[in-house]
Amino acid sequence: MRILVVGAGPAGTRCALRLAESLPAARVTLAGAEAALPYDRVALSKLLTGEAEVAGLITHPLAALRGAGIAYRPATPIAAIDRAAGAAVTARGEALRYDRLVLATGSAAIRLNLPGAALPGVVAYRTLEDVQAIRRAAIQGARAVVIGGGLLGLEAAVGLAARGMKVTVVHAVGWPMERQLDATAGELLTRRLGLRGIAFAMPASTVAIEGATRATGVRLSDGSLVPASLVVMAVGIRPQVTLAEAAGLAIGRGIQVDDAMRTSDPAITAIGECAEHRGRCIGLVAPALEQAEIAARAIAGEAVAWAPRADAAALKVSGTAVWSAGDIAAANAESIVLRDEAAESYRRLLLRDDRLIGAVLYGDTADAGFYLDLIASGRALGGRRQLLAFGPAHWREAA
Ligand SMILES: Cc1cc2nc3c(=O)[nH]c(=O)nc-3n(C[C@H](O)[C@H](O)[C@H](O)COP(=O)(O)OP(=O)(O)OC[C@H]3O[C@@H](n4cnc5c(N)ncnc54)[C@H](O)[C@@H]3O)c2cc1C
Repeated sequence: MRILVVGAGPAGTRCALRLAESLPAARVTLAGAEAALPYDRVALSKLLTGEAEVAGLITHPLAALRGAGIAYRPATPIAAIDRAAGAAVTARGEALRYDRLVLATGSAAIRLNLPGAALPGVVAYRTLEDVQAIRRAAIQGARAVVIGGGLLGLEAAVGLAARGMKVTVVHAVGWPMERQLDATAGELLTRRLGLRGIAFAMPASTVAIEGATRATGVRLSDGSLVPASLVVMAVGIRPQVTLAEAAGLAIGRGIQVDDAMRTSDPAITAIGECAEHRGRCIGLVAPALEQAEIAARAIAGEAVAWAPRADAAALKVSGTAVWSAGDIAAANAESIVLRDEAAESYRRLLLRDDRLIGAVLYGDTADAGFYLDLIASGRALGGRRQLLAFGPAHWREAA
C-alpha cells in the first residue's frame, strides 16, 4: 500500500510514524511544503527570544525518519490532487501515487488585507521562516507593532521585547486574550506586560501600514500613527483547505471528516488544524496529535473514533502563569471568584447546573489539571461546591 501524508507539521509527522510502525509493508511518504525537517512549532517563541536555535527545535532528524521507514520530501508543496488517478501532483509537476492519502496541511496565518500589508517589515508569526524573518528585522531599541493581542500576538510581543524592541500591541477588544480570559484577568495581564515594556492600544483597529519602501508605522482608525519598523500580524489562523477544496472534498471551515478522520472520499483522511470534525476545527497541538493517532489506526483497519475533549490554553511566555479551559463566556453561568490582590492571583470558575464548565486561572495555575478534569468529566459538584475555589486538597478532604 502506498500512503502519502501531505504536511509535515506535528499531525502529519505523527501519523506517518504510526503508519510506518503499524503497516511495515506499506510505503509511507511524508511530503511537506516547508524546507526544514519537522520541528516544534509550539517552541517557536524560544527561537524568537533566542533561548533556542533552529537545531534545538527539530523534532525528527532525517536519520530517524529514514530509520522509521518514512520517505521524507521537504520543500515539496502539493499543488493538486487527482482523485481519479490516485495521485497528488507536486508544484514541480511530479505525480506521487497513493492508495491512501492523509491531508495534514494545518493552518495559515491570516494576513489582513490592509494598504501597505505587503511592505517589507510586515511579517506573520506561524513558521520557522517567519521567525527567522522577524529575527533579521528586529533591531534593538527600534519600535515594533504586533497586530492582535491573542495568545500568539502576546507571545510575539514578549519575544520582541526580549530582543530589546519597544513593542505596542494593537488589539480590537478591550483586553488581551479575550477568548481565554475575562476582563479582570486581561487587565492583570496588561499591567504585568506593561512592566515588561509592552504598551497596548485597545480597543483599536488598524486601517493601514504606512511606509514608502518598507513599514514605518501603523495607522489606527482614530487617525493616530504608531511608529514601527517591524509589524507582526497575529490576527488568527485559517485552515489550509485549498487543495482539498479544488479536489472536490466536502469543506466547511475545514476539511470535513467523520469520527475516524475520513473525508468525503474514503481513500482520503484529514487530521490536525486543517480538519473539521462535527463542525469544529481544532487549534492546539494535543488534539492534532490525538487525531493523527486515530487516523493511523483507522487506516490500519481498526474501528476507532476520535472524541474531542475540553480545550485548555496557557500563555507560555508572560512571566506570569495564565491558564484557561472550557467555556469562559457562557451565558447563564454562575461565577465563583477568588482573588488575592497582594499575591496577584485570581481565579474565576464558571458553573452551570452544578457542573464546572469553564475556568480562568491567573498567577497561580497549579490546580489547572484538577479543574480541567472536572470540566472534561462533567461530574456534578454535589455538596462540595463551596470548596471548589480552594483546589484539590480541600476537595479530597471533604470527599
Ligand atoms: C508560534 C506558535 C505557538 C504555538 N503555541 C502553542 C501552544 O503553546 N500550545 C498548543 O497546543 N498549540 C500551540 N500552537 C499551535 C500548534 O502549533 C498547532 O496546533 C499545530 O502545529 C497544528 O499541527 P498541524 O500538523 O495540524 O498543522 P501545522 O503545524 O500547521 O502543519 C501543517 C504543515 O503542512 C504544510 N502544508 C500545508 N499545505 C501543504 C501542501 N499543499 N503541501 C505540502 N505541505 C503543506 C505546512 O507547510 C505545515 O508545515 C502554536 C502555534 C504557533 C504558530
